[in-house]
Amino acid sequence: ELGQPEHSVVTTCAYCGVGCAFKAEMKGSEVVRMVPYKNGQANEGHSCVKGRFAWGYATHKDRILKPMIRSKITDPWKEVSWDEALDYAASEFKRIQKKYGRDSIGGIVSSRCTNEEGYLVQKLVRAGFGNNNVDTCARVCHSPTGYGLKQTLGESAGTQTFKSVEQSDVILVIGANPTDAHPVFASRMKKRLRAGARLIVIDPRVTELVRSPHIQADYHLPLKPGTNVAMLSALAHVIVTEGLLNEDFIAERCEGKAFEQWRDFVAKPENSPEAMAEVTGVAPELVRGAARLYATGGNAAIYYGLGVTEHAQGSTAVMAIANLAMATGNIGREGVGVNPLRGQNNVQGSCDIGSFPHELPGYRHVSDSTTRHLFESAWGVSINPEPGLRIPNMFDAALDGSFMGLYCQGEDIVQSDPNTQHVAAALSAMECIVVQDIFMNETAMYAHVLLPGSSFLEKDGTFTNAERRISRVRKVMAPRAGYADWEVTIELAKRLGYEMNYSHPSEIMDEIARLTPTFQGVTYAKLDKLGSIQWPCNTEAPAGTPIMHVDEFVRGKGKFIITQYVATDEKVTRKFPLILTTGRILSQYNVGAQTRRTENVHWHEADVLEIHPHDAQERGIRDGGWVNIQSRAGDTVLRAQISERMQPGVVYTTFHFPESGANVITTDNSDWATNCPEYKVTAVQVMPV
Ligand code: SF4
Repeated sequence: ELGQPEHSVVTTCAYCGVGCAFKAEMKGSEVVRMVPYKNGQANEGHSCVKGRFAWGYATHKDRILKPMIRSKITDPWKEVSWDEALDYAASEFKRIQKKYGRDSIGGIVSSRCTNEEGYLVQKLVRAGFGNNNVDTCARVCHSPTGYGLKQTLGESAGTQTFKSVEQSDVILVIGANPTDAHPVFASRMKKRLRAGARLIVIDPRVTELVRSPHIQADYHLPLKPGTNVAMLSALAHVIVTEGLLNEDFIAERCEGKAFEQWRDFVAKPENSPEAMAEVTGVAPELVRGAARLYATGGNAAIYYGLGVTEHAQGSTAVMAIANLAMATGNIGREGVGVNPLRGQNNVQGSCDIGSFPHELPGYRHVSDSTTRHLFESAWGVSINPEPGLRIPNMFDAALDGSFMGLYCQGEDIVQSDPNTQHVAAALSAMECIVVQDIFMNETAMYAHVLLPGSSFLEKDGTFTNAERRISRVRKVMAPRAGYADWEVTIELAKRLGYEMNYSHPSEIMDEIARLTPTFQGVTYAKLDKLGSIQWPCNTEAPAGTPIMHVDEFVRGKGKFIITQYVATDEKVTRKFPLILTTGRILSQYNVGAQTRRTENVHWHEADVLEIHPHDAQERGIRDGGWVNIQSRAGDTVLRAQISERMQPGVVYTTFHFPESGANVITTDNSDWATNCPEYKVTAVQVMPV
């Protein structure tokens, strides 16, 4: 018992993309409690159980507090000094590059790291390693958002503030379960629904938004997993053929020829709800009703999650969503828009600050010589104009023998990436893996150097939430292992012969702002004054930009893009007759490394497999019994939960526990444009053990 706090520090939640602000109430250097904070922040004084109670992991006994090295992954770990560990990592990286070439090493940074940390990792890779082999775990969640919104609207980000939902008359939620994954935003949305806004839910499962004591969706379109693009085409077909287009908006704001081509495409009979019913499994009259409501019900906003992006056609679906918003004029004002709900706290930020192998900070392609020269003169190096390797390409290259060294900061690729066997084989083939993490994660089993990470309580920096809101992370205690993550990256760079000179993360943000037009006006002093800032923040918008694309799209004219439905290669067969889809639960967070180690959050003890009563009965599966679940990639064992929330033929699990390892089952199928894994569609068989 710590008793009464002595002082407090305002910081940002370590978990989801809502980005709630908290006051960490402290006694000495120990946190007494976290209290939701109101002024100038996304959450306006609210929080959920994770943010409020699940910070205890920061002082958990499992924390790695000493650097460790080993020359083979079969050797025991040896505790060493920071100098020895960093010297070893740098010498191994240099040795590998000498032997296998400049492009034989790379880095991965987590969307749980701060903007400043992500910026430094990509700078280390581009300037210190001399290649563009840097990627972020946004690769496996929202990379299709980055691609799809850039193509159609011109900016790889959501269009609204969370507050904007208070002006919505119609809310369309597709492939998202905000009640579990974005609780504080879900409360705000539900408040608006209780005040009379209408609701359309497109989801294979009966989520809480579909039917619960207080909420009843006007339309639930329970489509088969993998058919989002077919469903979005059917909705667009109704809007076009029933005269529900916003012709004035389109004429004024969008590219005419692209619109005409799109209109003619979606009007084809094969895109009608009747023709698509066989694909989606949804009754045509439901689709027609939902399309009419979205197009004519007033301000209509779309919110979507990983149920849209984590598909073979993830990028196509994102573009189809943007098409719908443009077709009905639902963009550029309060209450409307296209809003990706980001899973991790800094998914938006990690993409913004150049963590993708093809883009420098601010979503500028590495092949663009003007941008490249800007960074080259600031960093004093030359930058490779060729995009580097994405995460799955790094694995493939490792198995080919051309990618042999990896610096992995804060991302547990073994537990979170698909097809665990493939990932494990790739990592086993590498000669030096440096893992920087707060715990001995699953990836560390394949590592040669383990560098202790720092929790969000131990460092300064910023996170950018799903509404482009940059908020401060403030240090409340000294880094437990001696260094904050950003300092470790600087030390590693120095040993590779590339000096970076920063005395505080604010100087890193100053550099980002100098080199990136969308961040031009962002400083820590301004963040302290305003509480938070939504980018773009520049001379035209010195306090930031709550709503985007107001008078014109960032790309000038909005661009409709034809989105043809193509069935996924992941087919059900007699051997694998069910489709597995995956998601999250409220009390846990992603791979569970933090929430599983917080003693006061114990509500969800294991991943379970939800299965429809009909499918369970057919197989002799009883509620709570163990089942084996097998796919083409692998198999695991889970307890069954018989649930009417599922549709027949579809099963569901979460991925919070390494013991069950849901990604042992998922395959390495991926989005055609971005390689985002198709986590949401895996053909499986389920049988009692
Ligand atoms: Fe943290 Fe998200 Fe919960 Fe807010 S809603 S407290 S950001 S986990």
